[in-house]
Amino acid sequence: MKVLLVDDSATMRRIQKTQLTGLGISEVVEAGDGSEALTKLQAVMPVDIILLDWNMPVMDGFTFLKKVREDATYKSVKIIMCTSESEKSRVVEALKAGANNYLVKPFTPEALKEKLGI
Ligand SMILES: [Mg+2]
Repeated sequence: MKVLLVDDSATMRRIQKTQLTGLGISEVVEAGDGSEALTKLQAVMPVDIILLDWNMPVMDGFTFLKKVREDATYKSVKIIMCTSESEKSRVVEALKAGANNYLVKPFTPEALKEKLGI
């Protein structure tokens, strides 16, 4: 399973990468904003799952989500929005735009495992 981890916080990426490694997922590609994530996604396809932060500079998670869902190439890629407690109300908007699921940060490895479906 290959995961694209998108978050502008290097600390958050490190925590999530450690959790993914702990779940036996060794193929983790990181990006610090939506624009970088688009470039990396194209470069490293096939990707199974994208863990997507909401607030990021350059291109935010919601804009990235809409761009990915406009492109049939990425139809099979699951997108999990990683939101803060205060952004929870926007989850419906993200699901309508094509996100498959969401996690509220900070999340446990167990919650991550469940959302990854592994
Ligand atoms: Mg952020």
